Amino acid sequence: MEEKTIQIAGSITVDELAKALGLSVTQLIGELFKNGIVATINQRLDFETASIIIDELGFTNVKLEKKTTTSQTTNIRRELSDKAVTRPPVVAVMGHVDHGKTTLLDTLLHKKTVDKEAGGITQHISAYQLKHGDRLITFLDTPGHEAFAAIRQHGAMLTDIVIIVVAADDGVKPQTIEAINFAKSANAKIIVAINKIDREGADINRTMADLSQHGLQPEEWGGDIIMVPISAKMNKNLDQLLDMILLTADIEELKADVSVPAEGLVIESHMETGRGSVVNLLVTSGELKTGEFIVAGSTYGKVRTMLDWQGKPKGKATPSTPVTITGFKELPSFGDRFIEVSDEKTARKMALLNAQAIANESASANVTSNDLLRMMNVADNSKVFNVIVKGDVLGSVTSVVDSLKMIDTKGEITLNIVSTGVGDVSENDVYMAAGGDTIIYGFNVSVPINISKIAARDGVPIRTYRVIYELLDDAKHEMENLLDAEIIEEDKGEMKVLGVFRTEKTSIIAGGEVLKGDVKPSYLARVIHDKKYLGEAEVTSVQKEKLDVKELVAGETGGLALKTDNKIALEVGDRLQFFTREAKKRTL
Ligand code: GDP
Repeated sequence: MEEKTIQIAGSITVDELAKALGLSVTQLIGELFKNGIVATINQRLDFETASIIIDELGFTNVKLEKKTTTSQTTNIRRELSDKAVTRPPVVAVMGHVDHGKTTLLDTLLHKKTVDKEAGGITQHISAYQLKHGDRLITFLDTPGHEAFAAIRQHGAMLTDIVIIVVAADDGVKPQTIEAINFAKSANAKIIVAINKIDREGADINRTMADLSQHGLQPEEWGGDIIMVPISAKMNKNLDQLLDMILLTADIEELKADVSVPAEGLVIESHMETGRGSVVNLLVTSGELKTGEFIVAGSTYGKVRTMLDWQGKPKGKATPSTPVTITGFKELPSFGDRFIEVSDEKTARKMALLNAQAIANESASANVTSNDLLRMMNVADNSKVFNVIVKGDVLGSVTSVVDSLKMIDTKGEITLNIVSTGVGDVSENDVYMAAGGDTIIYGFNVSVPINISKIAARDGVPIRTYRVIYELLDDAKHEMENLLDAEIIEEDKGEMKVLGVFRTEKTSIIAGGEVLKGDVKPSYLARVIHDKKYLGEAEVTSVQKEKLDVKELVAGETGGLALKTDNKIALEVGDRLQFFTREAKKRTL
């Protein structure tokens, strides 16, 4: 059976899933119904639910994959400050198959590797750095057509210079043209390496003419494209090629800020036993150090270990440096943009917001870090009630969600369903909830012990119910807690100030006559000067004939001590209007 991969960004509608599986919507809804799931055409299924459904329907040949966030599609190069420093150029080698890309990279690697002993290159590396003279050049390792496509998708943001390898005995071919188009669309500088000049049939001039036909005019013919005749196999003119790369970098004045939080792109990621997530990053600005917190897409972590491309420990990675790090909670995807944040809480929050943005595709259309910060402020608003709903079957999840939406919040609270899913409460649910004031509601599901432990550690509330009304009552109660309390003020009395003994920044001692009502310690007072309101103070003690008393009533004179934050300069003749203030909890 043909293998098939469906990519989803967080959630997929029943309609979309049916199309992807090659079923009619009615067929899929029917199949779902047989499995106890009542669904409608526009219903969104999250990643986990969709995976379960695919399994349950027996589509063993279909694999579900999480699409990367769209936040990385924003341009990764930032506006530069005047403190920007020169950085190594990031170079991608492209060209038609068999024209010598791999050979070129291999020869360069053996010729220029700074420390040949270190680590040994045992596994696929996604980027490396070579030293030419005393300067570094970063190469993105992209042999093979698949990688080419991937780089085209994501690496465009990173690539400063594209080396287009053209075999001098073969000329311009379809993938040469593809490479030219890529470089142009990525706004990268082009350098042509006319390769295999050692070969019998090599014809440099004909190759240059061929390239001119395709819009690349060689410099020596009055154009603006540097072309270097080389032999990758014979190691001929490679120094000259590297010189040209550095010359181009100088002309382009490639710079980056190092004083900003570290930022860059995920260029490779995989799991390794014992090490957990192993992620290759290319830093584009700032400096990444071990111990720092970073976010990439919907995952985050603390940089636990950091190695350079040769496997040597590295404490700090500057712009254009590829590094391998461990410490991400979950694997980020190739092409995800990463950014450094100040602390774990922010990291979690941003990862959560990214996850939400992915789930809410319309919102994720163009999420920039500014948008994220704005969204974080929204999330800081205490009037948002964040929940994650897990249920035993899709039908129960839907009922819970629908019923939650029915709670009348008097327009004061926004219900934010962070995610929903079928199955027990998972570690991922807890991570999604952590740091985001989110409650996980489980309906007819359980919470594995280790998950409860993580939740307790991270302060994430998990509430499980078997009766829907109890769950709703709990949610309602939680929402009531978010409501602004009702403030009730009650007038109590008034005093005319006859003497001021002290009036400092925060404390006032004065005497006067109670004109009406009474005054007691703990009453509040509005200070009125000549019909003008000066501020508020709190009565801390009441005295009569120099003795503390419980109250003074209308007609009596006495002394008061007050405290205030309002820098009131009390004067004889001012009025004190006493009142009490009570915050009353509201209900829905
Ligand atoms: P790629 O598909 O672009 O990565 O091409 P490869 O690097 O795999 O090279 C394809 C073939 O061309 C291999 O057999 C190489 O040995 C050969 N080749 C690459 N560069 C040169 C060169 O400069 N001169 C000669 N004679 N052969 C080369």
